[in-house]
Amino acid sequence: MTSLAPKPFTGTLLDPDSPGYDDARRVYNGSIDRRPAFIARCRTTEDVVSALDLARRHELAVAVRGGGHSIPGWSVIDGGLVVDLTEMKRITVDPVTRTAVVQPGVTWGKFDAAAQQHGLATPGGEISHTGIAGLTLGGGIGWLSRMHGLACDNLQAAELVTADGEVVRVDDTTDPDLMWGLRGGGGNFGVVTSFTYRMHPVGPVPGGAVFFPGDRAAEVLRLYRDLGAAAPRELSLVAVQMNAPPAPFVPDEVRGRSLAGVSAAWFGDADDGERVLAPLRTALGRPAIDLLGVLPYCILQQSVDASAPWGMRSHLKGDFLGELNDAAVDALADRAGERSHPMSHVLVRRLGGAIADVPADATAFAHRDAVHMTTIVGVWDAGADPAPETAWARATWAATRRVARGTYVNHLEDEGVARVREAYPAATFERLTALKTRLDPANVFRHNQNVPPSAR
Ligand SMILES: Cc1cc2nc3c(=O)[nH]c(=O)nc-3n(C[C@H](O)[C@H](O)[C@H](O)COP(=O)(O)OP(=O)(O)OC[C@H]3O[C@@H](n4cnc5c(N)ncnc54)[C@H](O)[C@@H]3O)c2cc1C
Repeated sequence: MTSLAPKPFTGTLLDPDSPGYDDARRVYNGSIDRRPAFIARCRTTEDVVSALDLARRHELAVAVRGGGHSIPGWSVIDGGLVVDLTEMKRITVDPVTRTAVVQPGVTWGKFDAAAQQHGLATPGGEISHTGIAGLTLGGGIGWLSRMHGLACDNLQAAELVTADGEVVRVDDTTDPDLMWGLRGGGGNFGVVTSFTYRMHPVGPVPGGAVFFPGDRAAEVLRLYRDLGAAAPRELSLVAVQMNAPPAPFVPDEVRGRSLAGVSAAWFGDADDGERVLAPLRTALGRPAIDLLGVLPYCILQQSVDASAPWGMRSHLKGDFLGELNDAAVDALADRAGERSHPMSHVLVRRLGGAIADVPADATAFAHRDAVHMTTIVGVWDAGADPAPETAWARATWAATRRVARGTYVNHLEDEGVARVREAYPAATFERLTALKTRLDPANVFRHNQNVPPSAR
């Protein structure tokens, strides 16, 4: 620990000699191994101001860490200072106004649990250890999104520390332009120290998943596509290609085998749930694994945690798709079958519904007309060569490029400015650039999916 901070810093400042430094620099993606000069574990908004001041005075590059799930590891930096928010974990849910005020070190599992005590939830990530902060600022797509929009659509207000250390509270009246940017523009505009969300009543959820042998992937993808095309917004669907885990619910003869399935969640009237989900059980004959039922919302939100354990080494490719035509279905089915690691997987999520209700220019997240989102994850073990599964993920992604319609900023690796631009239509990127130039002209917050300010 060191006492370099000039203002009262109530958190913990770690340097490479501090106990706990190695744990503190670890992020979700186990392939990231960076050594910051300092990790400033903040407890308060004032600590964030102090940490940024320290970085400024020592000319250190800055990384900002919420849940640590950035796939390319933006939340840790070699030789710079990490503004680490993991100890800022307060959650206040108001069941009367149906709002929640949440600090940036909170993960979705903790937020969901606190909100469900009041029968409430807001759209969020599907792996319970993902941070609310990075996920919300980039958009935030989850089970509830067809029903209630993106996480960022439910962001009503925020507290933010700007690049020059000013603390501002923003909402749609105080600074509508900044609110627009916080809804999808990522961590480009400052360090958000508090998020205020709109909450929705959510009870037990009819849903789960069915799985078929992996060689039926094309049929399963068509079932997912056709069921989704006719479905009301209450139905959320994800097509999955993965290997069966050695879990108790998997019959012995299926464990380790390649599977193709559909995961589903129904947020409408419970009596309608069984009818709406029935085709998953009947359209392709009896599934090899049938996990449909009624799940408490928090269980739904943790149901795929085992597919993405903390420390997994992975490479992600993905895009938004306008359509999933037969050529794209066949290409995805063929390519996905060529994965070689048992944890590598391909997801295709149905979008639309409330996501598409929001006009494209109303938020920085602007790909509102996307119909599907692909998530292709190549995985490798510690010490293994990442090249084969990385190449597989890229080849599988390339197979659907023809029907791609932009990409999701939160699913980008470190792929350069051209790919960041794909996350935003040209007019959106221009407006983000103007906002960045106003708030962070020196590009202090550049260790991220960066929108550079205009050259001065
Ligand atoms: C296993 C896994 C599952 C995922 N599931 C989903 C999903 O279901 N839905 C979805 O939409 N996305 C999902 N994602 C992508 C996820 O949205 C991003 O990885 C997101 O960046 C994670 O946020 P975080 O706070 O955990 O990340 P961090 O690594 O802590 O932060 C990522 C970046 O966000 C910015 N940031 C973080 N906190 C702040 C802050 N307080 N103020 C300003 N900027 C900040 C910074 O630029 C930072 O570098 C998933 C990712 C993984 C690895």
